[in-house]
Amino acid sequence: MFAKGNRHISAEMLFEEANQAKVSVSLATVYNTLNQFTEAGLLRQVAINSSKSYFDTNNAEHHHYYLEDSHELMDIPSADVAVGEIPGPPAGYEIVRVDVVVRLRRKEPARR
Ligand SMILES: [Zn+2]
Repeated sequence: MFAKGNRHISAEMLFEEANQAKVSVSLATVYNTLNQFTEAGLLRQVAINSSKSYFDTNNAEHHHYYLEDSHELMDIPSADVAVGEIPGPPAGYEIVRVDVVVRLRRKEPARR
């Protein structure tokens, strides 16, 4: 999983890759493993919605474009995003990190 450079991978994608590599593993095991890697700080989870999330092998701070047509994530360097006006956290809390997901779709071809 880490061999192919920085990747954004879903549990389903990894499950599919395992199957193609003739590795016998259940989807539940894939999920559990990805969650354990995330808790250990090896992966970073990027949640798109309640039923879709990706695991990012790039741990460095950065943001994402989400391509709604192809369901792909693309990196945005953190320096390219100026996040301002974030309210201070409530008493007793600290900010872990700020994730920006910019959702994109292809423009309709112009009609005339
Ligand atoms: Zn990323």
